[in-house]
Amino acid sequence: MQNPFQNAMAQLSKAAQIKNFGDEFITRLRQPDRDIRISIPVKMDDGSLKIFEGYRVEYNNALGPYKGGIRYHPDTEINEVKALAFWMTIKCAVANIPMGGGKGGITVDPKKLSKEELERLSRGWVQKLSDILGPRKDVPAPDVNTTPEIMAWMTDEFEKITGDKTRATFTGKPIENGGSAGRGPATGLGGFYVFDSLRAQIGLPEKCKVVVQGFGNVGSNAARILAENSHIVIAVSDSKSAILKEDGLDLAKVEAHKKNTGSLRNFPGAKNITNEELLELPCDLLVPAAFENVITNANVSKIKAKAILELANGPITPEADEILFRKNIPVIPDVLANSGGVTVSYFEWKQNLKNEHWTEKEINAKLLPMMQDAAQKIFEKAKENKIYLRMGAFILALEKIKEKML
Ligand code: NAD
Repeated sequence: MQNPFQNAMAQLSKAAQIKNFGDEFITRLRQPDRDIRISIPVKMDDGSLKIFEGYRVEYNNALGPYKGGIRYHPDTEINEVKALAFWMTIKCAVANIPMGGGKGGITVDPKKLSKEELERLSRGWVQKLSDILGPRKDVPAPDVNTTPEIMAWMTDEFEKITGDKTRATFTGKPIENGGSAGRGPATGLGGFYVFDSLRAQIGLPEKCKVVVQGFGNVGSNAARILAENSHIVIAVSDSKSAILKEDGLDLAKVEAHKKNTGSLRNFPGAKNITNEELLELPCDLLVPAAFENVITNANVSKIKAKAILELANGPITPEADEILFRKNIPVIPDVLANSGGVTVSYFEWKQNLKNEHWTEKEINAKLLPMMQDAAQKIFEKAKENKIYLRMGAFILALEKIKEKML
């Protein structure tokens, strides 16, 4: 797999070619403030001891405390975490929230652990990192395979160690543990707000045919919200299967089928296809919502979508990005498209610090103008400089970060 950190740095270099930010600033942004690797010993249920490798990367805090999720995955490694932490730095600036960029992870397949082992592992991550975390220092959140329940364990462990009772150190918690209304669907909803704001400007019809890769938190919520807003979701996939129904999938039934059978495969009335085929389907909008590096040099020439909404982080390699630009396929970049998640995480942090609780209606009413504003500013920036949207987002974010660092 292509090194995601190299991809992130290639994007930074590209932005530095478009606008002269000065060598010193760009050089500083080529390395995180800190990258920390930890080993986490966990007592397994059978009495044996296993050591897991964990990470926290604090990339840049010019705009506020480091902010970013924790990923549990067998392929997670330091370069992936560094890339994700860099993108968080850009994303928080794009979303116009007073947060910097960070990310964490553990190399683990959580499906192979019992719930008790998973809890000990999650608490172990906090034990090793508690002195660098805190509401004003570094505020983690969920990412792939980390859940509100895991955030609750982590919050509890942090409170035990430090005595901090604000619960503002971790976001994405269950509501009863200080979580925010609306955090679950926030990334998918924010993605929809961004898409809806730009749809006509990027030449898409009112009723789009949509294909979604990934049916986890982000993908399933995005698919549902798009369908609720009169778009037609014709195909979705998860790690094991993909399904296609040309006249549109009933997503509530798809959810139920996945819950009952553990897979999307054999959904009544739909055709089973491969994940590769899914990416290459003719459609108005392709929504990668699973992992990085899914659209690369190897398949970019086969992409038939009219536009792409990147809800996953880093799904398109820099080379493929260039080709899509030349082919006139607009890409709404991850740092904008999926920033609804971190924005509602910021709302959660704010509520915890003020000891308030906002309703989902209030949350969504605050989220909508922020997403619209970010989308339009980036569109204007890209148009003004005749560059693609990703670079519009990078230039806008780098200007903000540079001003604060100076
Ligand atoms: P998740 O674990 O809930 O879901 C991931 C989904 O991807 C699952 O349905 C899984 O089956 C599927 N998947 C895994 N490998 C796949 C493959 N090879 N092909 C197709 N599908 C595959 O994770 P999530 O929280 O939905 O995150 C998805 C992406 O969105 C990640 O890139 C994440 O960094 C990004 N993101 C998430 C949030 C958030 O709030 N959760 C915020 C911003 C960005």
